[in-house]
Amino acid sequence: ARQQRSAAVTLHQIPNTIKTDSYWMPFTANRQFKKAPRLFSSAEGMYYTSVDGRQVIDGSAGLWCVNAGHGRKQIAAAVERQLMTLDFAPSFQMGHPLAFDFAERLAEIAPDGLDRVFFTNSGSESVDTALKIALAYHRANGQASRTRLIGRERGYHGVGFGGTSVGGMVANRRAFTTLLPGVDHIRHTHDLARNAFAKDLPEHGAELADDLERLVALHGAETIAAVIVEPVPGSTAVLPPPKGYLQRLREICDKHGILLIFDEVITGFGRLGTPFAANFFGVTPDLMTTAKGITNGTVPCGAVFASRKVHDGMMTGPENQIELFHGYTYSAHPVACAAGIATLDIYKDEGLLTRGASLAEYWRDALHSLKGLPNVVDIRNCGLMGAVELAPRNGAVGARGYDMLVECFNNGLYLRTGGDSVAMSPPLIVEKSHIDQMVSILGDAIKKVA
Ligand code: PLP
Repeated sequence: ARQQRSAAVTLHQIPNTIKTDSYWMPFTANRQFKKAPRLFSSAEGMYYTSVDGRQVIDGSAGLWCVNAGHGRKQIAAAVERQLMTLDFAPSFQMGHPLAFDFAERLAEIAPDGLDRVFFTNSGSESVDTALKIALAYHRANGQASRTRLIGRERGYHGVGFGGTSVGGMVANRRAFTTLLPGVDHIRHTHDLARNAFAKDLPEHGAELADDLERLVALHGAETIAAVIVEPVPGSTAVLPPPKGYLQRLREICDKHGILLIFDEVITGFGRLGTPFAANFFGVTPDLMTTAKGITNGTVPCGAVFASRKVHDGMMTGPENQIELFHGYTYSAHPVACAAGIATLDIYKDEGLLTRGASLAEYWRDALHSLKGLPNVVDIRNCGLMGAVELAPRNGAVGARGYDMLVECFNNGLYLRTGGDSVAMSPPLIVEKSHIDQMVSILGDAIKKVA
């Protein structure tokens, strides 16, 4: 790590052929970024190479998606082959074999009973699809009054109107004024006073699931369609659920006929050392949204996994009638299916869907070694997700977090920040030496930005 850092040339030597005016960047402070762009030019295994020629270790698997590491030739070859064979096929009233193969392969690794697969192109589309399936399912089953959707504070469910509405990140909602009506939120479970530095799942807070009972009491169960939660919220800097919380949410949903949706866009495909968070927590939702790791981040793709109950409940009308008036031009895109199948092959051959389990303890202890450094108010971990929360600097929320992002990047570590927390989720090919390198750079940065 030290060698790599001392080899760094002058930072931010951006080739002057790159003009930055036209590209309006997503979720980015554009004007600030363009003064000193952080650009990657290539990637291999655990590392990005920045345009100024430095090796930057990927502490975030891209955006929580490159689970098998970068530059996987098997995926590239499958994509190239597919493009040359069948570049596109319509998926409305038509199909292609690979879509069925891919769905079968996903069903094989799905949590018990969640083996009906609807394809999308992103996490946001998966979320909006799952919400719409929930509404359509109830309507098809004579319960059209079930229209209310429940999210949770500090949840992130993408950027569609559905996902933004059930989402609970204030900044993501505030700018848009009008969102879906009939949406409520249960409280988040982040509790520094009771659970800071919990190394295992937090002890306190399972009772927060009872917020759902309060909403049932307020509105009537017959008005509530579904509850959506991330089993472990990622974008709000890794908030592992209190012990027993998800089980309790499942019980309340069952009691009142409410569908439970797990948004596993981040936690899916091995992040917690099990194929899905549903396996990790032993709680099976009715619908599960995925994306990201489904193709190792290579080709946009997402999938909603549905239970037999939900799927079969939609297959009740006349046979010649479309059951779900929903889908995308690029649902089950042949190239995405090829990339996805190649990705699942790699996950299987290299045991990546469970590899995190053997590293989780090392990961946890490495992260918790940072306890006691300046401004560190919490350290959280679950599987191969982790976060370090820092106190805001003089009340300026996010300023210290931003400095951490820049400082780490300059010293060879890419990670995500949310407010004043830094979050990490390395590719699942990570070795202990990589963890040491990440934590060493992180620790130095924490001291530097103090
Ligand atoms: N849901 C969760 C839990 C996510 O973390 C994300 C993205 O980070 C999304 C949905 C949205 O996915 P996408 O950016 O692919 O639309």
